[in-house]
Amino acid sequence: MKNLTFDNQFVQELPADSVSENYPRQVKGACFSRVKPKQMRAPAMVSYSNEAAMLLDLTEQDCQTSEFVRVFSGNEQLDGMEAYATSYGGHQFGNWAGQLGDGRAINLGEIINKQGERWAIQLKGAGPTPYSRTADGLAVLRSSIREFLCSEAMYHLGVPTTRALSLITTGEEVVRDVMYSGNPAPEKGAVVCRLAPSFTRFGHFQYYAEQDIGLLKQFVDYTIRTDFPHLPTPSKETYIKWFDEICTSTCDMVVEWMRVGFVHGVMNTDNMSILGLTIDYGPYGWLEPYDSNWTPNTTDSQHHRYAFGQQAQIAHWNLYQLANAIYALIDEVEPLEKALNAYADRYGKQWLFMMNQKLGFSRVDKGSDTELVKQLLAFFELHETDMTIFFRRLTDISCKGEAFDIKWAIDQLSPAFYQDDMSAGTKNTLTAWLNAYWQRRQEDSITALQREALMKKVNPKYVLRNYLAQQAIEKSEQGDHSMVNELLDVLRKPYDEQPGKEHLNQKRPEWAKHKVGCSMLSCSS
Ligand code: AMP
Ligand code: MG
Repeated sequence: MKNLTFDNQFVQELPADSVSENYPRQVKGACFSRVKPKQMRAPAMVSYSNEAAMLLDLTEQDCQTSEFVRVFSGNEQLDGMEAYATSYGGHQFGNWAGQLGDGRAINLGEIINKQGERWAIQLKGAGPTPYSRTADGLAVLRSSIREFLCSEAMYHLGVPTTRALSLITTGEEVVRDVMYSGNPAPEKGAVVCRLAPSFTRFGHFQYYAEQDIGLLKQFVDYTIRTDFPHLPTPSKETYIKWFDEICTSTCDMVVEWMRVGFVHGVMNTDNMSILGLTIDYGPYGWLEPYDSNWTPNTTDSQHHRYAFGQQAQIAHWNLYQLANAIYALIDEVEPLEKALNAYADRYGKQWLFMMNQKLGFSRVDKGSDTELVKQLLAFFELHETDMTIFFRRLTDISCKGEAFDIKWAIDQLSPAFYQDDMSAGTKNTLTAWLNAYWQRRQEDSITALQREALMKKVNPKYVLRNYLAQQAIEKSEQGDHSMVNELLDVLRKPYDEQPGKEHLNQKRPEWAKHKVGCSMLSCSS
């Protein structure tokens, strides 16, 4: 671990908070405050990700040392580390919230790995910072397991995301009121070490724009130089190109969420990565019965602002807020509007292309394929359907060959349905859709092998089902971390068959339907 090469451009180049004591306050005119992680009582390893460790050029042996546990729990700093928390703001549920900042995230610095890649290292739950307001800066084991597993699951699914290196319990007791119902209780504390090329959020730009155009310009120029090095030297044209890229990467990220059935749950502008990475795994969830209006976040149960089917539109709204923030540097509305319109066009196209890939079509025939996709999603909503199981089984059906028997096909698909009985009308709808699908499939000129490769690449067999994460959490809280590690392992290869692991790709059992922690989550973490 001694050979980690820190370059720490963030603290080298950007203005620091002049106050060095760690107490909650408003920080103005600075991008970060220096702050040390809290000393934890008894750090102990729960799990680490091999693949994430490789990004830092760390070996398995490195991850198994006591030094690793000390460093990534925040108890010890390596030479070259410079710990800091950043200032940002954000729109929360549509309202400007002013200063938020890293309230329980502490950055340890940025390294450049052997490939020349920059990776920022950040601890989540490592103690209070000037941005913690009235909260403790800590995280509990249950939310840390959710962040750790989902980061790595998303990566292996091919969804842009921040990464998770390690999950370590701290030996500290953390008091939380799980459903904000007036029942605070002690829970086990934990720290997740996250990695990303950059943790910069839309809210950083919003917060600096609110203060001072000079600070905004300095931060934008820094971001372009550091995180978008392929762009030309900062200028008005470069800013426009940059915003265009952010629109594109944000769009593509949401398309990927829609592909795998992921609901972020809290798409506030402070939870939007400037690199189009999925960031801040809080009350997220995975669709069980397909329902575009579903959100796991009970804080949002009235308005469904961040429901599954709202995500593309909300990302657009968030980009609009970012455009507002950087407008002062461009001083022209039209190029920003153009980029925002291009987002909407791109989303429509990419989403349809993605859905067609899920159906195993090698090209998109716009009119008829849109209809086919629309009809299928309407069917999913009508007859509670597990999208992951449905598409995976459709993959198997489609790859079986040329003979197509409708009874057999419906039978093959039945494990995807939450209701046992299908009314005659529903069955007719499915039959009609399958016949239309099969006809379209026959018209597509790719070989069976090509189709299989295409469909298996986009239709995962294993996702981090809500109830599985909760089962792993309950075991871990009792000191048995085996299921966390089993899920981490299976989710490494979400598109592979993995014989013997089929119990991890079953639809949600009835007991989990209304259970807290499964499909009902709050922001308490
Ligand atoms: P989130 O809803 O997790 O995106 O958090 C919104 C803001 O609250 C961010 O500024 C967080 O850093 C902060 N925050 C959330 N939980 C805590 C905590 N336990 N202690 C301090 N700050 C927190
Ligand atoms: Mg957040």
